[in-house]
Amino acid sequence: MTSAQSDERIRREIEAQINLPSPPAIAVQILNTVQSKESSLSDLERIISADPSLTGKMLQIANSAFYALPNRVSSITHAMSILGTNVIKNIALSFVITSDLRNPAIKTFDFDFFWRRSVTTAVSAEVVKNLTGKKDDDIFVTALLQDLGVLVLFLNKGEEYTPLLTKCRTSNNDCSCLIKLEQEKFQFDHQQVSCMLTRSWKLPLSISEPTCHHHFPENAPEEYRQSAEILSLANLISTIYNGEETTENLAFLQDRLKEQFDMDKKQTAKLLDDVAEKTIAILEIFELDPGEMKPYSQMLQEANNELGRLNLSYEQLVMALKESKEKSERFARELQEANAKLENLAFRDGLTNVYNHRYFQEIFEKEIARAERYNGDLCLIMFDIDFFKKINDTYGHPTGDQILIFLAERIQNAIRPSDILARYGGEEFTVILPETQNAGMKVFAERLRRCAMEPFEVEGHSIKITISIGGVYYDLNSRGINKQHLIDTADRALYLSKQNGRNRVTILPLSP
Ligand code: GH3
Ligand code: MG
Ligand code: MG
Repeated sequence: MTSAQSDERIRREIEAQINLPSPPAIAVQILNTVQSKESSLSDLERIISADPSLTGKMLQIANSAFYALPNRVSSITHAMSILGTNVIKNIALSFVITSDLRNPAIKTFDFDFFWRRSVTTAVSAEVVKNLTGKKDDDIFVTALLQDLGVLVLFLNKGEEYTPLLTKCRTSNNDCSCLIKLEQEKFQFDHQQVSCMLTRSWKLPLSISEPTCHHHFPENAPEEYRQSAEILSLANLISTIYNGEETTENLAFLQDRLKEQFDMDKKQTAKLLDDVAEKTIAILEIFELDPGEMKPYSQMLQEANNELGRLNLSYEQLVMALKESKEKSERFARELQEANAKLENLAFRDGLTNVYNHRYFQEIFEKEIARAERYNGDLCLIMFDIDFFKKINDTYGHPTGDQILIFLAERIQNAIRPSDILARYGGEEFTVILPETQNAGMKVFAERLRRCAMEPFEVEGHSIKITISIGGVYYDLNSRGINKQHLIDTADRALYLSKQNGRNRVTILPLSP
C-alpha cells in the first residue's frame, strides 16, 4: 500500500467510526476574518470585543508573566499593536476552543487534567520555540490542540476508550503508549484524529500539518518538520509535569536538549522552571486548577529535604539494598525447595519413596513415544512379592512395611540411573528399562530375583522373601502397540510365573 492509499484508508476508517465535532462559531469567525483579504484588523478586534469575557482573558494574558511586557496593556487594539494580529488571533482561538470543549457533567473524563496537560504543552512549545529562534506565532495554539484527538476519541468511544487512557497515564511516555493501544483497538490513533479534525476545521496549514506529525516529526514534510519537532519536545516536557516516571523522562529530555541545543542540565532545569511558572500563570486565566504543579527546582528542593529527613547515608542505603537482595534470594531458594517437595509428593510413593503409580503411567507413555521416535528398544518388568500376606500375618503389618521399604531401596541401588522403578500398588512394582533388548532384560530380571532373596534384617528377625517376575519387550516389530497392551502382557507374564511355582521369571513377546 502506498502512503497515500494508507492515508485514504485511515481517513475512511475515522469517518466511519468518529463524529468530528464542528468548530465553535466564534472560532470560525476569527479564522475567516484573519484569512479574508477584505477584512481589516478592526474586524478581528470587533469579534473579540463583542465577547467581554474573551476580551478580559485576552488582556489578562497580554499582561501575564507569559509575555512579561514592560507596560500594561489596556485594550485589544493596544495588545494587537504590541503582540501582532496573529498572536492575538491564536490566543483568542485557544480560549474559544478550550472553553467550548469542556464538560464538567461528564465524570469519566478528566477535562481539567486534559486541558492542564495541553496548556503545559502549549507553554512548553512557546518556550522551546524561543530556543530555536524560529518565528512561529502559531506554535502555542498548535500545541494546545495537538491532542484534541484524545478528547474526540473519548467523546465518540467513551467506555471503550477510558481503559486505554487509564493504562497509559501511568506509563512513562503516555502518548506513545496511547498510540500503540489505539492502533491495536481502532486501527487509527489520536494523532490521526487530531490531524483530520484540524484539517476539517480549515485551520491554517501551519497549525494542521505539524499536528499531523507531532509524534513522529521525522515523517513531517520539510516545511513543517521543525514545528513538529518542537511539539514533540513540548509533549515530553509536559509529561514531566503531568505524568509519572519523572526521572526517566527528565533524563530523556536532558539528552534531547543537549543534542539539539547543546544545553546542560542546569540550563534544562531553568527551562523547566520557566515552563512551570508561565503555565501556572496561564492556567488561572484558562480557569484551570494548577493542581500539584510546581517548578522543577522546587520539586528538587522538596525531594532533597525528604532525603535529609530520612537521614539515610549512602552506606545505609547500600546495606538495605543488600539485605533485601539476600532476602529475595533466600525466598527464591525456599520456593524452589518447596516446589521440589510438592513435586515429590505428587510423584513419589509415600512409603517407599520410589515413583508412584501415577508417575509410572506418565513416564511410561513418554518412554514409548521416545522409543518409537528413535527406533529404540524398551522393556517393562513387573514383579510381586510371593506370599506377602503370610509375612504380614507372621511378623505384623509394620514389619511388612519395613520389608517393602528395604526391598525398594535395595532395587533402587541395583538399577541403572536411566531405569525407572515404581511401586505399582501393594507389594507389586514395575521397572521400566529404556534402551534394553530382550536378552538384556532376561539377565536383569534374574539378577533382580536373586537380589530380592537376600534376607532382610527387621526387628531382630532375618526374613527371606521371593518375588515372581513378568517381563515384556518392545522393539522395532512392535510399532503402534499401546501402553496398556504392554502392561497387560507383563502382568500376564507375572501371573504365569506365579502359576508355575513363583520365584521365577517369565518373559513374553508382545503379541499383536
Ligand atoms: P501371591 O504370592 O499370590 O502374590 O500372594 P500374596 O499373599 O503376596 O498376595 P495377596 O494379593 O493375596 O496379598 C497381598 C498382600 O500384600 C496383602 C496385603 O496386606 C499386603 N500388602 C499390600 N500393600 C501393603 C503395604 O503397604 N504394607 C504391608 N505391610 N502389606 C501390604
Ligand atoms: Mg504377592
Ligand atoms: Mg499382589
